[in-house]
Amino acid sequence: MQHFTLDLQHTEGRSRAGVFHTPHGDLLTPAFMPVGTQATVKGIAPRDLTEMGASMILANTYHLYLRPGAELIARQGGLHRFMHWDQPILTDSGGFQVFSLSEMRKIDDEGVTFKSHLDGSMHRLTPEKSIHIQEHLGADVIMCFDECPPPTDREYNVISMARTHAWAERCKQAHTRTDQALFGIVQGGIFRELREQSARFISELDFPGHGIGGLAVGESKENMYATLEWMDAALPEHKPRYLMGVGEPTDLIHGVMRGMDMFDCVLPTRLARHGAAFTHTGRINMRNKLFAEDENPLDAECDCYTCQTFSRAYIRHLLHVSEMLGLYLMSLHNLRFLLTLMREIRAAILEDRFAAYAAAWLLRYKNIGGA
Ligand SMILES: [Zn+2]
Repeated sequence: MQHFTLDLQHTEGRSRAGVFHTPHGDLLTPAFMPVGTQATVKGIAPRDLTEMGASMILANTYHLYLRPGAELIARQGGLHRFMHWDQPILTDSGGFQVFSLSEMRKIDDEGVTFKSHLDGSMHRLTPEKSIHIQEHLGADVIMCFDECPPPTDREYNVISMARTHAWAERCKQAHTRTDQALFGIVQGGIFRELREQSARFISELDFPGHGIGGLAVGESKENMYATLEWMDAALPEHKPRYLMGVGEPTDLIHGVMRGMDMFDCVLPTRLARHGAAFTHTGRINMRNKLFAEDENPLDAECDCYTCQTFSRAYIRHLLHVSEMLGLYLMSLHNLRFLLTLMREIRAAILEDRFAAYAAAWLLRYKNIGGA
């Protein structure tokens, strides 16, 4: 077993079940990775994450660079030791947050100058700086610094893609740690020719894995799914494909159908904060009066602590009076729901019944209850 290789165990159509090896253990794919923005999956202790079956989790470079700082985390022994997570970690490059969070940013071919969304202080990120920070954080998988452009603006995507490609070469040059895998990122918006060009360029740099960036940022589902099909055809088969920032249950299924292996999203914990829970028949809004005296669990088919123990009526009460336990129980459930979905998907692929599983799952799942 060699670190950062993907052993494909079985494929069904384009769907793949595999094992991705990292220095902190194996990631069984396809996999959903919970997001721990500030080096914590909001409100959830590592012990809970382990119990619910999480493996690789994500942390955000932009946030950790601003607070507490990458050097401080390095002095504390790196991210794994700092946050007490002994399984694999992935960090993003900081690029996406610079483009989406900072009030003012100026991009040039060298990098990006931006104003912190916290205190207005000025900062500059370059490909080299992003890699430097990510090497200090010490995740198992780190990402190339890229630009995430508006997906439907063709002219801008041409310029931006060339920049992302040049930055990928610089990230590769700057990367020194052999115990970390640096993934390349494919961009190109919703345009087939650009996406294929980007996949070719990034593949030739021979990264151990590939992120598909610039999706789930406002384009239509049809465009997203079509792009994934092009990516499945264009990217090398024996390296992991990571669909960045996608966590809607239906998108996870559609992504796996199109050859994707890894997914991450803040959705489970963000929805919990908004009072929304995943169920097998769709999302429900737990603040709804409908549930005031409902003695059922959030989802009768879920085996999480929340569903095994508490009623909808009680959870609704906790949310209404803003008790911390309400958010905790909701987050626990939403995370377990997606992790269970991925575990079932993987088992179905291994047994050649994923197509049937996916069809049945999608048929039941509707957005109901106003969530
Ligand atoms: Zn549950």
